[in-house]
Amino acid sequence: MVKGSCLCGTVAFEVDPAGVVAVVGCYCEPCRKVSGSQYGVYYQVGRGAFRWLSGEDGVAAFESTPGNLRGHCRTCGCTAPIATAYGAIRVPGGAFDEDPGVGPEVVIFERSKAGWCGLEPAVHRFEDAGPPEFWRTIFVRLFAGGSARG
Ligand SMILES: [Zn+2]
Ligand SMILES: [Zn+2]
Repeated sequence: MVKGSCLCGTVAFEVDPAGVVAVVGCYCEPCRKVSGSQYGVYYQVGRGAFRWLSGEDGVAAFESTPGNLRGHCRTCGCTAPIATAYGAIRVPGGAFDEDPGVGPEVVIFERSKAGWCGLEPAVHRFEDAGPPEFWRTIFVRLFAGGSARG
């Protein structure tokens, strides 16, 4: 079993990786907004392979399109697992605390992809938060009224 949780720890669950039926990356606008990133990553898990450890009642549901519920933790706002109308539990990839051993195998709604998605990897790459000298240059821009492209 592979464990997952939300940021505040209210919501916790475990998944049997053998019960993952699909791993989907989705570029649709709702997935982008919910994830706050380039695309949503969702593990479609058979009900028998998913178990709540805590916080099921701490998950709020939002119907983003008719019949499509999205779950989030009432306390910290993280995207949370939720039962779907088609019989699976949809588990957000970012919620896993352990490696489920399988990543996205299909990407959908490419036509909805934002223009900035899939741009070249950043020029500045750091293994940690980055050195103070780098962030000083950002603060110089901030207070000079410049932009990231300046
Ligand atoms: Zn939470
Ligand atoms: Zn989507």
